[in-house]
Amino acid sequence: METDQQTTGELAAVSSTPLLALRRAWGFVARIFSPGYSWCHRCKRPWTVCEGHSTEYQPGRWCFPLCEECWGELSPATRLPYYRQLWNEWKACEPLREPQWQDIERAVLNERANVNSTPEMRPNSENRLKP
Ligand SMILES: [Zn+2]
Repeated sequence: METDQQTTGELAAVSSTPLLALRRAWGFVARIFSPGYSWCHRCKRPWTVCEGHSTEYQPGRWCFPLCEECWGELSPATRLPYYRQLWNEWKACEPLREPQWQDIERAVLNERANVNSTPEMRPNSENRLKP
């Protein structure tokens, strides 16, 4: 049975799922054993234990503030704050080299609500086969 993804209470509903709480607990532990790795901005799991969802914001340039699971649970609009957070971190580190926020915002909003959260959606495999 399909339900409408675009409800206004979506963000609150999704952020209180038991699965997210579980991923956050997992992330807390995994980060201790993953020094030097960054992590999903939502569930805080490091990239050693989950797959980041890559968003191409300029040709050949990707960013991944969210893991595939978190990305798949959110709508484009509710993903934006996490991308904004990452962009702010970039800006703080390298004021001259960061991409324009509009580029990232457009890329995030152009991605569909919930395509498929499998690792096969990574950019490298995405342009491999187009039947
Ligand atoms: Zn996550």
